[in-house]
Amino acid sequence: MLRLDRICAALAALLAMACVTATVHAAEPFSPAALAAARDVRERALRDDTGYDLLRSLTTEVGPRLCGTPGDARAVAWAIANLNALGFTNVHAEPVKVPHWVRGTPHVEVLAPFAQPMVAVTLGGSVATPDDGIAAGVVGVTTIAELALLPDSAVRGKVVYFGNRMQRSKSVASYGAAVGVRGRGAGEASKRGAVAVMIRSIGTDRDRVGHTGGMRFEKTETPIPAFALSNPDADMLERQLASGQPVRVRLRDDSHWADSTMSANVVGEIPGRDPRGEVVVLGAHLDSWDLGQGAHDDGAGVAIMTAAARLVGQGTMRPKRTIRVVLFANEEFGLSGARAYAREHAAEAPKIVAGMESDLGAFAPTGFQSRVDPSLAPVVQAMAQVLAPLGVPLTGNEASGDADVGRLYDLGIPVFDVDTDASGYFDLHHTPNDTFDKIDPAMVRLNTACYAALAFLAAEYGPGLGRAPRAPAAPR
Ligand SMILES: [Zn+2]
Repeated sequence: MLRLDRICAALAALLAMACVTATVHAAEPFSPAALAAARDVRERALRDDTGYDLLRSLTTEVGPRLCGTPGDARAVAWAIANLNALGFTNVHAEPVKVPHWVRGTPHVEVLAPFAQPMVAVTLGGSVATPDDGIAAGVVGVTTIAELALLPDSAVRGKVVYFGNRMQRSKSVASYGAAVGVRGRGAGEASKRGAVAVMIRSIGTDRDRVGHTGGMRFEKTETPIPAFALSNPDADMLERQLASGQPVRVRLRDDSHWADSTMSANVVGEIPGRDPRGEVVVLGAHLDSWDLGQGAHDDGAGVAIMTAAARLVGQGTMRPKRTIRVVLFANEEFGLSGARAYAREHAAEAPKIVAGMESDLGAFAPTGFQSRVDPSLAPVVQAMAQVLAPLGVPLTGNEASGDADVGRLYDLGIPVFDVDTDASGYFDLHHTPNDTFDKIDPAMVRLNTACYAALAFLAAEYGPGLGRAPRAPAAPR
């Protein structure tokens, strides 16, 4: 009897414990098996060089791939071949119309007061000068706001120089603060009667290279030539302006527009186990500027996201939903691929449970953010625990998906961002120096581990992640 009582009591205690355990597990967002599979893909990513090998291949066999160029077409073929070779399914190209701008050869020199040549690059979208160039006086300002304070008489017939200096920072915000003059400085100067524009390069290096990038004119504005001076040449020009003597420059360039042409978003999938067809999108942009090899921008993103999806597919547990890699066409010169994708997949948006994008180079991750309904905080916290051993903390719920996947966020799709230390990125960004030798394979592995674990868990989470809350409207 005694023994039976003891056995009964022991059984009852075990049963009670089991109930408690079961209750706790019912409230957990992920099963122990799912968490184990997420940790497993994280650890495999840290030992896997698929991403680094892909990036070597892309930078070696394709190189620069500005939209509309032969390099762009080669990149599309490269992506299709590599996704197929890595075992992706449903590999295909979705055609996208892209602009085609042809870079000329810039010639930029100071004529007076102290004549000397300058190193500059032409900004994307610039138009040619007359064959014998433009010789004109320079008016120097820092920002577009400062230009607005000048009388028209001070701008008409002049070359406007914008000297705003980008600050080095771990955060990409310093780029956002500086880049406005590149995109719109020439348009604003043209409206005021300027004949050309020079800007200080949007970059943090002291190398004698210019940083290119896109700019745009409104339909009502007359396009004018625009150049980015290397930082050392911008310094020299500012010293000449500081002399108080009139500064004259000569600018010559033969850049021009060709007919728009076709590129493509390239897509490949790692199928999930649920036949309902829900997907998690991992995005990066396949195009690059034409001066370097597009290694950090954004070959790294292409490599990281492709490797992350493949590693999920190689795991012992296939996630519930499909992981879809989308390599976007023409991010650099107007987001053609992202806009086309959001437009053509809008009806599918309810089935896209999350989007993520890698487009800040293969540098050390500093944290990750979500943008999900606040009621899903426990889900994101569980994801954060899987990323914690990588030294990548959860930093907030204000992700926006970056340039391409941001267009999916616009459709209400939850997004996750892995932020990286940007303090070295803008030494290389959009320059001839964005090349494969600048890539640290350990950083490719670490970023891949972050995205692989996040992608697996987002694809696995049972009920789905709902719709993303909108950012509060900016104060007017
Ligand atoms: Zn980029």
